Amino acid sequence: VHSITETNSIKSPADVRYGIGATGELAEFAGSEGVERALVVTDADIVAAGVLDPIEGALESAGVAVEVFDGVEPEPKLSMVEDAAAALRADEFDLVVGAGGGSCMDTAKLASVLAVHDVPVRDTVGMGNAPGAGLALALLPTTAGTGSEVTHIGVFSDSEDGGNKVVVYDDQLFSDLSIVDPALTESLPAGIAAATGMDALTHAIESSVTMLRTPYSDVLARDAIERIGDNLRAAVHQGAGNDRARYEMSFAATTAGKAFVNSGLGAVHALTYPLGIECGIGHGLANAVLLPHVMAYNVPAEPEHFAEIARLLGEERAPGESTLDLAYRSVDAVMELNDDVGIPNHISELGDVDPDEFDRFADICFEYSEHNIERNPRDMDHDDVVGVFEDAY
Ligand code: NAD
Repeated sequence: VHSITETNSIKSPADVRYGIGATGELAEFAGSEGVERALVVTDADIVAAGVLDPIEGALESAGVAVEVFDGVEPEPKLSMVEDAAAALRADEFDLVVGAGGGSCMDTAKLASVLAVHDVPVRDTVGMGNAPGAGLALALLPTTAGTGSEVTHIGVFSDSEDGGNKVVVYDDQLFSDLSIVDPALTESLPAGIAAATGMDALTHAIESSVTMLRTPYSDVLARDAIERIGDNLRAAVHQGAGNDRARYEMSFAATTAGKAFVNSGLGAVHALTYPLGIECGIGHGLANAVLLPHVMAYNVPAEPEHFAEIARLLGEERAPGESTLDLAYRSVDAVMELNDDVGIPNHISELGDVDPDEFDRFADICFEYSEHNIERNPRDMDHDDVVGVFEDAY
């Protein structure tokens, strides 16, 4: 954990604006940048839900010609990035707008680079491998979850490598402008609002306890934990009817994103790998189900920190209650939240997951995501990972 003589950085995109109706600010940005042609990178469900209307309206009011690439699908494949980049190269676009959940924003980020630098997409995988700056990039999240709008990360699946998850980390993936407009989450179905909201809570809790946490990430993470605990239920169950709850969730998802991009994450993000790759379970849902079980494993390493998380989630210390007992109540609080928003607390409820595979799943966690295990606040070896999967089953 950080020392006061260590230099910590604050990583951030150039400009982040937030508030209901903030989408209108795209017009001013387009005007000041002299944008003439914009390609909106999105998916078909978002188009069908009418989410693009205010985005296209703002751009068109600034005289921008707008076209839409709607070929993104959840957990996007690298080939979708290539397709979006080809669409960008086919015409004289000078702005890429990533509008959607993490899948659309991630695709837009990397496509904006490949539109300018026509290199094989696989060459960009890993840390710092983008060949240079891309087209101007604006990101508008339509879920309150991933925080991708404030990260320099793109997460993809590689169908040429058995659907394995690959990650691109590069400062060139930071947007020029991110607009967090809770009005864009009005049409979110309850199940997606729940899974993406729990994804944001996972970012907040993992960045709050990771070994690489900094004072900056810690402030953001704590605030996000409290806001999500206070607002996720209403955002899921009242959705379009509760602007305040959706505002708080959008704000918290973005601050949780700013927290983890400055701190890294922990074991939840390693254990979700096999659930995604092998069982096709979506990122947010997998995080939500595993989160309380990894927390329970971690409590003994950081009881005071988890007692604080319990407090942020609305738990109060009972007379005479030990810090450790209060810390374990943070686990109960997350399980109750999952229950209340319709998310199961056990892997066995997710469908076809074979517990005989947990040994192999643990190998996958170490192969693809060892860095997240190393940052976890409690040491974890192969058998510990299998133990957490068994508890979570
Ligand atoms: P998503 O983008 O995959 O979208 C899920 C579904 O929700 C889609 O069908 C989409 O059409 C629908 N949807 C989104 N907004 C909607 C709206 N307003 N109304 C109606 N439907 C809507 O989901 P996500 O959870 O936001 O993103 C997950 C992806 O993000 C994964 O690939 C994950 O690995 C990645 N991710 C990236 C980062 C990062 O920093 N780049 C961080 C975490 C996760």
